[in-house]
Amino acid sequence: MADKTLNQAIESADTERLQKIVKDLCQRSSDSKEFVEKELLTDETEPADSKETSKDSNGVPQQGKKRARYAICLRCREEYDVSKNLKDSCLRHEGELEQDSEFWVDHDEDCHGPIDEDEMKVEYPEGFRWDCCEEHADSKGCETGYHEEDTSHWPKGAKRYRWSYGP
Ligand SMILES: [Zn+2]
Ligand SMILES: [Zn+2]
Repeated sequence: MADKTLNQAIESADTERLQKIVKDLCQRSSDSKEFVEKELLTDETEPADSKETSKDSNGVPQQGKKRARYAICLRCREEYDVSKNLKDSCLRHEGELEQDSEFWVDHDEDCHGPIDEDEMKVEYPEGFRWDCCEEHADSKGCETGYHEEDTSHWPKGAKRYRWSYGP
């Protein structure tokens, strides 16, 4: 019973509060710290085509530096595990989002507001089509590739949409 109440409390807690609790937990117990490190960190990976793999004098690859394990992709806006980023992990559209004029036939921008806004694309995904595949704004991507890290992502930053990014 207590577990259920605790679970509810965790699920409803503010992100900032949870972050503080996780940090405190890491300071209190090395077991917890090890667990959190395993969950949130991974080895810094060298690009596959890099010639300068760091090796020690015996030719053994050195213990890599650590980095955050999860990142947000700037193409599909999904969170992904950087240690499992394969060449077909990311589904995205490479084209531009265009208004479907038939959908907006009764929309008067002077009284209903401008159509070409991010909020409108979220609210009326069926009113926009990707010019790469003619699918609606909220459809699954038609191209695959590696996820690309959005290094400027910050949880508290303004929400950004995948159609804000071009190739
Ligand atoms: Zn597409
Ligand atoms: Zn992606």
